[in-house]
Amino acid sequence: MPIHEKSLIEPDHLMTSDKLVVDGIDVSGHWNTMIKPRYISDYDADFYKTIQSYPGGGNVHRCWQCGSCTNACTMYAVNADFNPRYWIYLVNLGLKVELLGDKDIIWQCVSCHKCTNICPKDVRPEGVMKALQHWLEDEGHVPKSSSTLFDEEFTRQCLKRGRIEDTEVISRFLKQTGQDIVALIRTGWLGVMVARMNKWPLLKEGRLGRFLARVPILGPLKMGLMMIFKPRTRSWGRTGEVLRQYVEEQKRLTHR
Ligand code: SF4
Ligand code: SF4
Repeated sequence: MPIHEKSLIEPDHLMTSDKLVVDGIDVSGHWNTMIKPRYISDYDADFYKTIQSYPGGGNVHRCWQCGSCTNACTMYAVNADFNPRYWIYLVNLGLKVELLGDKDIIWQCVSCHKCTNICPKDVRPEGVMKALQHWLEDEGHVPKSSSTLFDEEFTRQCLKRGRIEDTEVISRFLKQTGQDIVALIRTGWLGVMVARMNKWPLLKEGRLGRFLARVPILGPLKMGLMMIFKPRTRSWGRTGEVLRQYVEEQKRLTHR
């Protein structure tokens, strides 16, 4: 039988006769391709449960490998190595080593949900891609993504002080993602951001006075002071600690 996705099979496991006639029917070439059986011992039979424990991965076991998700996938259309059906197959077989071979591609999912809309088994492949990305991060197979670093900083401040300071979140996020704040200011990034926040068209029309009148002074000043004094929500100490313990407990329960 013809085999799709031949690239996923090791070449020496494929068997094809160039000339073959069976019961008078010419099945030469790829029409008679067979795959040699292989025996796998290094699999983790419970791996699918690990992926199920992440948000989005709960239905991974339902997949019946129809391939509709991959056919519909936005990323597959531009990169044939991006194959949600295959990764879901590897999860259900517990083939972590093979999955790690694609660790640098899985994050490319653009969350368009085409796969989830078309899946006949409600596997929600987009959620499985997210679950896989989080598992790869948690296990240290890939560096933490920018969104994870942002979430962590956001949560850290909430738990510590019961509130967040936008400037501190952004400055720490830029630092953690290795961005040079001074260089961003020097290249005009900050200027463009302020201009866009304050009616960029006024500047383009040459109405400098109106533009400057809209430049916020008090807001940034207040944010700067907050960065220095780091105020807390009143009586937050014990509440924050209870909340932190609750978050830790939920993490443990989720990944047990
Ligand atoms: S569309 Fe759904 S059932 Fe079909 S291969 Fe993808 S995840 Fe599996
Ligand atoms: S959500 Fe991700 S996996 Fe699903 S179709 Fe879009 S790019 Fe592909």
